[in-house]
Amino acid sequence: MNPFILGQITLFTFITIVSFFFVYKRAKAIYRNIKLGRKEIISDRKGIRFKNMLLIAFGQQKMFKNPLVAILHFAIYVAFIITQIELIEIFIDGYTGHHRIIYHAIESIYGLKLLYVIGVNAIEFLSVLAFIATLIFLSRRNLVKVPRLNMAELKGWARMDANLILFFEIYLITCIFSMNATDSAMHYNETAIGYGFILSGMIARFIHELPHTVLMIWERLGWWGHLIGVLGFMLYLPSSKHLHILLAFPNTFFARLQPKGELSNLASVTKEIKLMMNPETAYAATDSTAESERFGAKDVQDLSWKSLLDAMSCTECGRCTAACPANITGKLLSPRKIMMDTRDRLEEVGRNIDANAGKFVDDGKSLIENGYISVEELRACTTCNACVEECPIMINPLDIIIELRRSLILEDSNSPEEWNGMFANIENNAAPWQFSQQDRLNWAEEK
Ligand code: SF4
Ligand code: SF4
Repeated sequence: MNPFILGQITLFTFITIVSFFFVYKRAKAIYRNIKLGRKEIISDRKGIRFKNMLLIAFGQQKMFKNPLVAILHFAIYVAFIITQIELIEIFIDGYTGHHRIIYHAIESIYGLKLLYVIGVNAIEFLSVLAFIATLIFLSRRNLVKVPRLNMAELKGWARMDANLILFFEIYLITCIFSMNATDSAMHYNETAIGYGFILSGMIARFIHELPHTVLMIWERLGWWGHLIGVLGFMLYLPSSKHLHILLAFPNTFFARLQPKGELSNLASVTKEIKLMMNPETAYAATDSTAESERFGAKDVQDLSWKSLLDAMSCTECGRCTAACPANITGKLLSPRKIMMDTRDRLEEVGRNIDANAGKFVDDGKSLIENGYISVEELRACTTCNACVEECPIMINPLDIIIELRRSLILEDSNSPEEWNGMFANIENNAAPWQFSQQDRLNWAEEK
C-alpha cells in the first residue's frame, strides 16, 4: 500500500479512537452527575412524552413563537444534521484510504448516483443558509446587542462559548466548500463533467485551472479540516451549553406534565396539614418514612435528577429571564442564572467526587450563596411560571427555586420578617389570616 495512504489511515484511526474515548469518558461523568440527584420515577403517559420530544426537541415547535429566529435556528440545526451524512463517507474514506468511496461505488447506477448528488447539493444549500443565519446570530449577539443575550450572567466563558460555536459553524462550512469545490475542479479536469454539485461546482469553474498539486493540497486541507473540526466539536460539546443539541431529547421526554402551578407536596408537611384538618383519620394514613425527609434542597444532590438534567440541558438563551417579571422589574433574579449556577455547582460536585476516589467529600459549600444562588434571588420569585412557559426545551427553573426556598424557610428559618406573621397564622389557624377558620365567614353574617 502507498505509504502516504497508510499514514493517513493510521493517523485517522488514532485521532478518531482517542476522540471517542474522551467523549465516552465525559458522557459517563455527565450521566453520573445527573444521577447524583434525588430519585424520582417519571414513567407515566409515554405517548404524550414521545410526542413532546418529537414536536419540541426535534421539531423545535416552541421556537416558532418568533418565526424569523425559528427559521434561522432551524436552518443551522438541519444543516448540522444533514452534514453528518457526508461525514459517513469521510469516515469510510478515512478508514479505507479511498476517496469518495460511496460516489464511485454507485457511479454506474443512475438512480443512486442522482440520490447522492441531490444529497450533497442539499448539504451545500443548507450550509449557505446556515452561513447566513450564523452571521445574523453573531451580529445579534455582538453588534445589535439583543438585551437577553448580553445580561450580567453571560460574561466570560458563557459569552465566549456562545460565540465560539458560531465561528465554528463558519469554519465547518468553509471546510465543506473547500473540499467539495477543489474535488469538483479535479474531477472536472479529469472527466470534463464534474460531480454535479451546483454551488461548489460554480466555485470549481473559477479554480479548476490552478495546478493539480495546489488543488489536491487544498482538497486535503478541507477534508482533514472537516474531520478534525467535527471531532473537536464532539470533544467540546459536553463542556458547552450546546450539549442541549443532545439533551433536549431526554429533557423534553421527561418534562413534567402536571399543570403549571401545581406544586409537589412534601410528605412531612402533608402529614402536618392532615393532622390539623382531621387528626382522627390522619394518624392512620401517616407514612412513617416521611419523618426522615429533608425539607427542600440545599445542594444539588437534594434536587431531583430531572432538575439536574434541566440544568445540563439549558441553552442559556435567556428567553426565561426576558419573560421573568422579577427580572423585568429590576430584581436580581434571573431564571437562566439559576440554571447556570445549578450546572456549575453540579460540575464542582462531580470534580470533587473524581478527586476523592468516587466519594463526595464535604467542601463546606452548597448551591445557596457560596457564589451561586443568593437568598435575595430566591425571595424575588413570584412563582408565576412565565419562565417555564417560555423555555423552548421544557426546562423548569421554578422547581429548583421552590426546593431551595423550602430549604431556606423550613430548614434554616430564613424568611423575610413580613412572611413570619403569615406562617404563624397558617400554623395556628390553618389559614394565612389572623382569625380562626370558624370565623372566616363572619364578614358575610355582619352584612
Ligand atoms: S416563576 Fe419566578 S423565576 Fe420564573 S418567571 Fe416567574 S418570577 Fe421569574
Ligand atoms: S431555562 Fe430554557 S429559556 Fe431559560 S435560558 Fe435555559 S433554555 Fe433558555
